[in-house]
Amino acid sequence: MSISRRKLLGSAAASAVLTMPPFLDTFQATQPASGDISVPIGVVDERRSLNGPENRIVDIHVHVDEKNPAYLEEFLRVSERLNLTACMLTPFANRKVVAEAAKKYPRQIVPFGFVELDAPDVVKQVEELHSLGFRGLGEMEFVKKPYNDPSYFPVYELANRYAWIMMYHTGIVLRAKFDEPEDVASGRMRPIHLEEIARRFPRITVIGAHCGNPEYEWAAEIARWNSNVFFDLSGSTLTKMHSRLADFKRIFWWSGQPQDSKTPNDDPSAFVKIVFGSDTELRNIEGVKAQYHAMFDACDVPESTRKMIMGGTLSTMLGLHA
Ligand SMILES: [Zn+2]
Repeated sequence: MSISRRKLLGSAAASAVLTMPPFLDTFQATQPASGDISVPIGVVDERRSLNGPENRIVDIHVHVDEKNPAYLEEFLRVSERLNLTACMLTPFANRKVVAEAAKKYPRQIVPFGFVELDAPDVVKQVEELHSLGFRGLGEMEFVKKPYNDPSYFPVYELANRYAWIMMYHTGIVLRAKFDEPEDVASGRMRPIHLEEIARRFPRITVIGAHCGNPEYEWAAEIARWNSNVFFDLSGSTLTKMHSRLADFKRIFWWSGQPQDSKTPNDDPSAFVKIVFGSDTELRNIEGVKAQYHAMFDACDVPESTRKMIMGGTLSTMLGLHA
């Protein structure tokens, strides 16, 4: 969750139920009634987008902007320009339209369910998301208990059965209300809680957002020992670390050492435990990409590992090359 989503959060309860558009025959017809997200057609040139899959960026952290009726259309244009696939973090209310869009544009959109772990019917929601073709959950955040609380295990049992990717906010979280009490605590979202989930539910791939900001060392060590744990560097992390990006070399320190767990492609670089995540507005994704590349340069990340971080690892996990 980025600061720019503060407004979204505050108004989430007021958001309208989004409906499916009627049949769409032409691109013109995709202009939706205000408040609806619709599935555009004719935006993406499939042939062009499919070129160069080895250079494809896969972004684990793209939140649907449910306030923007043209969101999917705008996303597809960005997707084509940047050669980018999004794990699209979708509020439950928008599940059907995003599932349909993902079927139409499988190389651009991978649907993830943005559910609340504390919702009384969360297990039912997860089952429905699975039946609609969703590939995981995220971003989990604002939990009432620590992520490893046993009351969340029924969801994790299902995710384990589905061999899903589960993406969790880790570390410091924004404060939405200043004048009223808020039941929100960053301590429930520490990266250390992900370790137990990864070990109890080994078929789940656990991805922590923001690399535990500021508990980067804990995040990295948990990723080192658990082949099914990865982190993104979205949020304020790369901005804060701008003048000391080389510090990541001390945090992801074990490159070339005997490996403690299996890595994608048997890559010997510690940085292969990082995946690309932007967690920003569509127009700023390119800026986050530049921040990742600045970190790569500062830490001498090998070219082959950069490709794994920017898309190779997630493409393999999600079967996007198939
Ligand atoms: Zn977050």
